[in-house]
Amino acid sequence: MNIANWLHAAAQRWPQRPALFEGTRQVADYQGFAANVRGLAHELVHEHGVEPGDRVALFMKNCCEYLELMYAVWWIGAVVVPINCKLHRSEAGWIVDNAQARVIFTDDGQVFAPGELALNCRELAGRGREVEGAGDHQTTPYLCKADHLAWLFYTSGTTGRSKGVMLSHGNLVAMSLCYPLDVDAVSAKDAVVYAAPMSHGAGLYNFIHVRCGARHVLPQSRGFNADELFELATQLGDVTLFAAPTMVKRMVEQARLSGYAGEGLKTIVYGGAPMYLADLQAAVSTFGPRLVQIYGQGESPMTISALPRELIADRQRPDWARIVSSVGLAHSCVQLRVLDAQLCPLAAGQPGQIAVRGPTVMHGYWRNEAATREALVDGWLLTGDIGYLDDQGYLTLTDRCKDVIISGGSNVYPREVEEVLALHPQVFEVCVVGEADAEWGESVVAFVVTRDNQPLDERSLTAWFIERMASFKKPKKYLFLDELPKNSYGKVLKTTLRQRLQEAADTVVAP
Ligand code: AMP
Repeated sequence: MNIANWLHAAAQRWPQRPALFEGTRQVADYQGFAANVRGLAHELVHEHGVEPGDRVALFMKNCCEYLELMYAVWWIGAVVVPINCKLHRSEAGWIVDNAQARVIFTDDGQVFAPGELALNCRELAGRGREVEGAGDHQTTPYLCKADHLAWLFYTSGTTGRSKGVMLSHGNLVAMSLCYPLDVDAVSAKDAVVYAAPMSHGAGLYNFIHVRCGARHVLPQSRGFNADELFELATQLGDVTLFAAPTMVKRMVEQARLSGYAGEGLKTIVYGGAPMYLADLQAAVSTFGPRLVQIYGQGESPMTISALPRELIADRQRPDWARIVSSVGLAHSCVQLRVLDAQLCPLAAGQPGQIAVRGPTVMHGYWRNEAATREALVDGWLLTGDIGYLDDQGYLTLTDRCKDVIISGGSNVYPREVEEVLALHPQVFEVCVVGEADAEWGESVVAFVVTRDNQPLDERSLTAWFIERMASFKKPKKYLFLDELPKNSYGKVLKTTLRQRLQEAADTVVAP
């Protein structure tokens, strides 16, 4: 099954349904969308010699052509390699090399200097060119099996070189079919807005919306702007978007300033990083029952667990805080387990490494057998995340394995410390890491960004903390920053913070 069949079917069934929008302006119906895809597919084969299985990279900001190019690549059985547009071109060049891509599309075809790309990789302009009709050439997508490679998903690499997660057409179909069961109902009336980079989670939500003949909206800013989103939602109606927690936080702040209360907004799917309780409370008060949470990772894309909107919105439930601090229930097509250090399953309530099994799980890392062997064990994907299941099957994430702090022999999960500090009225953002400590092994350090960067007394934070949590978990040190370092997908770079601590320690001991 080729995922491009969904576009083919949509164009046959609903040729005149609106498909692609730049801002509020329709640029193609489904018939036009599929015709452009066939034209591009023809060009890829006949002008650039792309064959089934070849990799085609995309290093562009979000735009309608992004979707057309992806489908053109699948139409001919080739593999897309979406690269985060916010990366430096040398990082993108590394990915192109690693993926052995044959073609790379950039906005204007002029990003790389001669000699910067491997000899057999051509850079082409992805935007602003006329697509020639494909005539009768290849009127249906390339026939392939479910395990045929579709998308090399480069991880965001918060801890080192990114790896190419191999996702097949079967993975993408399974992921998409879970969405209406576990995340949100989809209909032709919907408009999915791509406000986060399409190279990541946001782009993965296109499939189910193509399947249902919905609208695809590319903001004119080609990025994230809360006011623009509110305007799009108000004008287009039934808008769905994927947003990282930092984006939701900014939407809430902007909505409070402008008085926007969710008009035309159907669903905000959030995930990709922890959403602190304090921020979720603010989001539910501002947007009401419009939030759904997902937990996933590139290796089981967007599909490990989900927390439905009814639960998030029901603040009267006595166990509301506990439920919404979880990442919800396993998606329909996956099985979850929590494992101890010997990879044996643990009972409910006990924290351990989360493992996932099911048809969304990747086929391995591209040209990296060692990493594949570590991540896939007996058919289970070891996520590297720590969490626990409760008796009802709700999964709560505590942290990434490598972020847990072991202080005086006790485990301190940074997330729980962060949750407490984030509730402090003068704290805007916080991130907790461990620092080597001669006495305790590791000690807890909190990096804090205060609201409006106003000065905040450390003693007030300590008093706040010990009123709410065991004092052995309290930060030994607070460091105040203007902002937290984040990667281009908005995830806090804990490695950078740890490096800063190390550098500061080295400076102190240097003669
Ligand atoms: P990526 O593969 O870059 O999308 O990163 C996936 C990682 O982000 C997961 O392994 C988790 O550590 C984290 N993550 C994803 N979704 C959530 C969520 N809903 N809550 C907390 N962390 C999350």
